[in-house]
Amino acid sequence: MIVTGGSRGLGAGIVEGHLDAGDRVATCARSRTPEVDRWEKEYADRFLFQEVDLSNRDQTTAFVNAVVERWETIEVLVNNAGVARDGILAMADDDDIDLVIDLNLKGTLHITKLVTRRMLARRRGHIVNISSIVGLSGYRGLSVYSATKAALDGLTRSMARELGSRGIVVNSIAPGYLRTEMSHGLDEAQLDQIVRRTPAGRLGEPADIARIVLFLTDPANDYITGQVIVADGGLTA
Ligand code: NAP
Repeated sequence: MIVTGGSRGLGAGIVEGHLDAGDRVATCARSRTPEVDRWEKEYADRFLFQEVDLSNRDQTTAFVNAVVERWETIEVLVNNAGVARDGILAMADDDDIDLVIDLNLKGTLHITKLVTRRMLARRRGHIVNISSIVGLSGYRGLSVYSATKAALDGLTRSMARELGSRGIVVNSIAPGYLRTEMSHGLDEAQLDQIVRRTPAGRLGEPADIARIVLFLTDPANDYITGQVIVADGGLTA
């Protein structure tokens, strides 16, 4: 399987969950982390990491080719890598707009296209797009980010229709607020307010989402497809 952006945060939780389950896991990020070094030692026979900028098409293509060369097949793709830039659209820097769209949307489309071709040949596969509740309900100061996340949910629905008859299932998971580096942009008052409004009474942890990825990508799941699974402790209930 491939998990994009698995070096830290949610992606690392997803990698960990699948390594624990005995799967072969390939992941990529622009830079390595101590977790990546540990997995390379501990799971040398079934873990692969490459330094890749997913907004660069050539690097992404080389990564997918390296995974196929090593394991021949790719049965699962988890599009997790994503980036956010704060600020209202009217004041946004054009480079920041490009950065978010180039990774979250164009980068995801490119790797999905490459991996889907491999899955089509074998008539099986599971794809999970990590979107966000921000793509469903919006958030002041995150217009570009929320536009890309809503686009991923659209991609999920269309691809599920395109690929359903070929044995490939496609779903989104829309997490609420997770305790990762991405949420470091929120100050303590904002985080407290989110926790107060969340029926579960806490922020999400990567393991909360990793469990759902395992469920959706289980080979036995061939009937839940084209869905956006919201996992936010009840925040948007
Ligand atoms: P994070 O802690 O910032 O981790 C992002 C991961 O993506 C890292 O491994 C990072 O590694 C990698 N990455 C970033 N830019 C990349 C690029 N250009 N090419 C390749 N890899 C890249 O973020 P997170 O909170 O775990 O978020 C993971 C996903 O969950 C994102 O799609 C995010 O939108 C979504 N999400 C997060 C939250 C939240 O509250 N945190 C809520 C809802 C949804 P490098 O920086 O080394 O490249």
